[in-house]
Amino acid sequence: MRLVLLGPPGAGKGTQSARLVEKLGVPQLSTGDMLRAAVAAGTPIGLKAKALMDAGQLVPDDVVIGIIDQRIDESDCANGFILDGFPRTVAQAEALRELLDRKGLKLDAVLELVVDENALVERMRKRVADTLAAGKEVRADDNPESFKTRLDTYRAQTAPVSAHYAGRGELKRIDGMLPINEVTAAIDKLLGA
Ligand code: AMP
Repeated sequence: MRLVLLGPPGAGKGTQSARLVEKLGVPQLSTGDMLRAAVAAGTPIGLKAKALMDAGQLVPDDVVIGIIDQRIDESDCANGFILDGFPRTVAQAEALRELLDRKGLKLDAVLELVVDENALVERMRKRVADTLAAGKEVRADDNPESFKTRLDTYRAQTAPVSAHYAGRGELKRIDGMLPINEVTAAIDKLLGA
């Protein structure tokens, strides 16, 4: 199954993707994780992306489109994948359609986790506290200032992606304010899983 998971930062995309990975046996393709790995490895893409990511801004479309185009060709994606954090602009959504067409593939579903924005900053703070409590490193962009930019970026550039898929009759919306297990159940129901 080929899925796209949309929603603002802190909506629970990562948590729900991890559950879908278990259930569907397909990999989660998180452009954020891939870019963080590139930053950690000091690759040319990582060097280009780091400052933008730290500030909560988007990296250029061609960079993430190139990453996804290559990643989908790997053997573990043969039975599908879950796109988490991609597409984040309408141009990326259009490029995704083109590259899937070229590969003879199509999406099975586009899911959006709909959340109350007021709850997101609090969720980010909790994620930071949980990460610190687990003795792990906190993301460079999980601070109030970058988080605000990430939300502004979401509103300006990524919310239109939901409208894009809704306009094509492809979007399924899920209440992301429900408890985690209920969100999972709602997704399962929508997917008929
Ligand atoms: P995430 O882990 O999905 O919150 O992504 C962290 C950061 O990586 C974002 O704030 C962007 O700077 C960058 N990023 C991740 N995915 C994309 C994308 N599809 N397009 C542009 N930038 C992205």
